[in-house]
Amino acid sequence: MTPLDIPNLNWDAFLGNSAVVSAYQDLTKLTTRTVLLHPLSLIPRVPQSCYCAWSDAIHIFIDESSERVHHSLVHELLHGILVEEGYCRIAARLPNSLHGMFSNEMQHPEIFRRMEAYGLDMSAYWPHWVRELRGSLADMLNEVVVDRHAGVSHMPQLFTWFYFKHVSAAHLEEYRHANSAAYVAAQAAYEETKGLGFADMECHRQSFELFKEHWSRFCTDHLPGSFAQQLATNIREGTLKPLLDNEKGRSAEEIMTLLISKGLHVAG
Ligand SMILES: [Zn+2]
Repeated sequence: MTPLDIPNLNWDAFLGNSAVVSAYQDLTKLTTRTVLLHPLSLIPRVPQSCYCAWSDAIHIFIDESSERVHHSLVHELLHGILVEEGYCRIAARLPNSLHGMFSNEMQHPEIFRRMEAYGLDMSAYWPHWVRELRGSLADMLNEVVVDRHAGVSHMPQLFTWFYFKHVSAAHLEEYRHANSAAYVAAQAAYEETKGLGFADMECHRQSFELFKEHWSRFCTDHLPGSFAQQLATNIREGTLKPLLDNEKGRSAEEIMTLLISKGLHVAG
């Protein structure tokens, strides 16, 4: 079995929504890969709609019964669109956990901006995101207590939160009390990049480079020990690489292994 054989849903059932059809058409115009839709129930260990992609296909998993199904569809399609447009990740010697989180989170300010631009009523979506933030914040506050380096992994997320402060202000404020140095560093990065944003590749690259400087400086100035100084150097020397290259290097086997680890049941 390959990921292409995973039971899928018919896109036609969702293309009556004008935002979904626009995002779907934009992605299929940009990509040569197959874009498949699947029920989230196939991967029971994943709680929310998600996106995964490899050399031959882009897979989107959604909860068809959710009241936010159109928002989720456009959100996941936009992850694909940004990748196809050339959005980047940082290639640097960083702990693995930082990598996946980093590239995913860094896309969200632009994804929210474009969800709205596709005509979605975001007032129906934000309460969901507030709950997401609440969960992330609880984890982050716990990490601050047990890990003196926690700020370095929180900074990308905090940085993106500043882009939708109308939803995240209370969370940011709560975090500030627990770890003001990381908060202040993320805020400074935001202040320097907010005029640029992420609307196209060039802005995205410039914002990303500026964020990198603030991120590296935070390690130098606020974290103890030689590990942190090494991290600062690795971030500073890290280069931006297209996410698309990374996805195109992923094989069918790798995706099957990943999905099976998330609970996908393979018959036979
Ligand atoms: Zn996302």
